[in-house]
Amino acid sequence: MSRKIWRSSGKNTTNHVEVNFIEKLTSERRFHSSVSCSVTWFLSWSPCWECSQAIREFLSQHPGVTLVIYVARLFWHTDQQNRQGLRDLVNSGVTIQIMRASEYYHCWRNFVNYPPGEEAHWPRYPPLWMMLYALELHCIILSLPPCLKISRRWQNHLTFFRLHLQNCHYQTIPPHILLATGLIQPPVTWR
Ligand SMILES: [Zn+2]
Repeated sequence: MSRKIWRSSGKNTTNHVEVNFIEKLTSERRFHSSVSCSVTWFLSWSPCWECSQAIREFLSQHPGVTLVIYVARLFWHTDQQNRQGLRDLVNSGVTIQIMRASEYYHCWRNFVNYPPGEEAHWPRYPPLWMMLYALELHCIILSLPPCLKISRRWQNHLTFFRLHLQNCHYQTIPPHILLATGLIQPPVTWR
């Protein structure tokens, strides 16, 4: 069994980057259906529902491939089709996670042509954003309604995050995830 690593980066063209990657992998790399390997993606946005379908089709044709996807942000996450697309991916065995500092650092080191001496200057991203997106991804996977509302003011490039937690969220989301956001307090036990 060979342990070769292939690194590649891609952008959206007329197709989304996910579809471009699959096409590149299957055409240029002569990727046979019997190949067994693990693929890790770092995406700026989570896959849309159409890409989710294309990914599932690719995986069904290549059962030896495992896919882990790290995303920086959730793409139109209140859209029901996009939500279902992500759930379908998870149900097909794909791991989807919101990028944390360590993944940003990995991308910076491996994919960014940074100037010498700038090794430590990976792009800073507010930890709260990561936490809120991670919370919303939980809602999606657990088939809960969206709890994260995002609005943008294009004039001054401001992004507003608003959380709207309902009873179903409190009852279903694991407490440690909610606690991590600082939105709920741990229960106090009196002795
Ligand atoms: Zn897409």
